[in-house]
Amino acid sequence: METTASPGPLQHVEQWDDFVKARYRVDRKKEEFRVFDASSPPVVKDFYRENHSKQTLEFVRAKQAQYTPLSGVRMGIWEAMEKLEVLVDDSDPDTDLTQMQHNLQVAEAIRQAGHPRWMILTGFIHDLGKVLCLYGEPQWAVVGDTFPVGCAWSDSIVFPEYFAVNPDSARPELQTRLGIYPENGGLTGVKLSWGHDEYLYHVTRKYLPEPAQYMIRYHSFYPGHREGAYDYLMNDHDRQMFEWVRTFNPFDLYSKSDEKPSLAELKPYYEDLVAEFFPKQIDW
Ligand code: FE
Ligand code: FE
Repeated sequence: METTASPGPLQHVEQWDDFVKARYRVDRKKEEFRVFDASSPPVVKDFYRENHSKQTLEFVRAKQAQYTPLSGVRMGIWEAMEKLEVLVDDSDPDTDLTQMQHNLQVAEAIRQAGHPRWMILTGFIHDLGKVLCLYGEPQWAVVGDTFPVGCAWSDSIVFPEYFAVNPDSARPELQTRLGIYPENGGLTGVKLSWGHDEYLYHVTRKYLPEPAQYMIRYHSFYPGHREGAYDYLMNDHDRQMFEWVRTFNPFDLYSKSDEKPSLAELKPYYEDLVAEFFPKQIDW
């Protein structure tokens, strides 16, 4: 997706997904796992340089205050999906996988694995928070791995060296292991860097079961669900729910296949599924 309204180093926000996929390839050798710099495309480095230098505690507070009252727009799930699709189509000559195809592939893979309907739906909508691009948000405030702000950054975050120029690095109270948070106080009280996960969580939370809320809210929190970092901020309930996040992740990462699901064929099924959980319009 070329974020025409929101320039950034990535040609399109999906480029970040491709990078994450490459990083967590199934066939990736163990020793390759920590090699980010040498092998990463420069655009991805530029992206993270910007993301890590600008996602501060104050920034996250401001974005939460701006978006989470959901007073902006009333829109249906399909409407959001179509808007996002237009943005993708317009722009990107070399991504062969549109956002809609990604949604369908993830959802179909979840369906084939025999998971419940709410989880299929979750796969279908999990990236819809990227409509933030349509509101003019820059790439670094929409995609990218997420991480807690307001406490020390974990070394397991990609390119941790780029945090050196984040203004929060000059605030010692935010640089302790726990920062502003109580030990094992639970992730609900922890502010993660702002992006499409957190936004969609607020938009959809009252319509979906709790495991779905966790999948949506934390699917980009790779330091937490893949690297096992920040356990000291989680409580037992988070740990339990993160099993769901980990169940979801491979579908997001690895369901990319050459076979392109046909929206025309699948639309009736997904229309029913969306209507089962969501009213015609919801607040965004
Ligand atoms: Fe995502
Ligand atoms: Fe995704």
